[in-house]
Amino acid sequence: MEMGGMSGIGLGHGELVELVRKYNRPGPRYTSYPTALAFTEEVGAEELLVTTEEETGPLSLYFHLPFCETLCWFCGCNTIITRDYDQVGEYLGHLEREMDLYGEWSAAGRPVEQLHFGGGTPNFFPPARIRELGAALHRRFRFADDAECSVELAPSTLEREHVAAFAEIGMNRASFGIQDTNPEVQKNIHRIQPHAKNRETMGWLREHGFASVNIDLIYGLPGQTVESFRRTLDDVMELEPDRIAVFNYAHVPWIRPAQKILERSGLPDAETRIGLLTSIFESLSGHGFVMIGLDHFARPGDELVRAREERTLQRNFQGYSTRGGREIAAFGVSSISQTTRAYRQNHKDLVSYRAALGAGRLPVARGLLVSREDRLRREAIHRILCDLELDRAAFGEKWGIDFGEFFAHAREPIEELREDGLLEEEGALLRVTPAGRLFLRNIGMALDPNLPAGAGRYSRTV
Ligand code: SF4
Repeated sequence: MEMGGMSGIGLGHGELVELVRKYNRPGPRYTSYPTALAFTEEVGAEELLVTTEEETGPLSLYFHLPFCETLCWFCGCNTIITRDYDQVGEYLGHLEREMDLYGEWSAAGRPVEQLHFGGGTPNFFPPARIRELGAALHRRFRFADDAECSVELAPSTLEREHVAAFAEIGMNRASFGIQDTNPEVQKNIHRIQPHAKNRETMGWLREHGFASVNIDLIYGLPGQTVESFRRTLDDVMELEPDRIAVFNYAHVPWIRPAQKILERSGLPDAETRIGLLTSIFESLSGHGFVMIGLDHFARPGDELVRAREERTLQRNFQGYSTRGGREIAAFGVSSISQTTRAYRQNHKDLVSYRAALGAGRLPVARGLLVSREDRLRREAIHRILCDLELDRAAFGEKWGIDFGEFFAHAREPIEELREDGLLEEEGALLRVTPAGRLFLRNIGMALDPNLPAGAGRYSRTV
């Protein structure tokens, strides 16, 4: 990462404050395009599933394991809060049924190159159930030898036996949330997780040969100060993760009512958030981490950094990924599948999800057929979010369009971003400046003509 200015991004504090004031507005994270807000119930499940029949390449699998013991008040995920572990066996049965029904649409023998268990808390599954899920998967899918298999973990309820079971079924990458190590902040967000548990988690993962471990942090939580978050960053560095994701807390109480509780203990003001952001950049670049793009950092040798350098980095529902262009077949409540021509999302509630499977149908609730224009826009947005530059001439040639004409709506916003020093132009090349990396969502928005519809429902960009 280029250094310069107090924040390591070539800007002084005053300039940064001004830019954040100007650009901090609601906007998507572009994990998909069009975004999930555009999904509709109008399009039939059959029409969406046919697009799976057209796919022949390798597969990326996602399993949503939604259960959590307690609710973290900042949570934006689709979770089911329960202490009833018996539900797991039943849910496993649903996943098996869903895989079988999916098998009727998908050509046999396609290699699985990626697998991801997300949640919820995947380690809510007891070790024996984890092994059952692994066996169920391997009975139905053929895995490539070098498949990347990752799991999200919650340290507070994690035991060594869970890690052993995940390793045994082939998981080789992991990610866990720390958010903040300060006990006061943890109390404010209803997530108590002693740092000793984080150390233990990292130790177990290394002991079981997990090749890459990611840690998630969140800034903008109640009680966080620049000083306290520096200690969190020091604590995290001590664990020597391979990747770090630092998310801007997304306050969307109109979607997640529990987030309202956080307002009681006071969310940090704009000044503090900017201070937090600055210290994150300073600390991570000082420790040799490379910014991958939106929210994500990795060590120089990490495959995400290599993928960035080789221009093969991809953006998907898990954030950034090294392998793209694959169909994502997703299983479990609320999960989103992606083919070249469509997105489809499962029912978000367990009752409808279960009912569909009981009736012998895949539990598709909504989705979207993606037009060629959408694919073109998706690629332009994703390339700039991944490569941090876009060759407009080469892009136009590839898609058989005149870039300036097709993206006429982007001309003014691009010009404004350029004047503000967030983008630079060199002939047909559009490049994100070091400061622009903080505003990647805004840069994506410049290329997105569909934004005004529902823009206010997104979280803020900075
Ligand atoms: S453990 Fe994760 S998914 Fe579960 S409530 Fe907390 S943040 Fe949400």
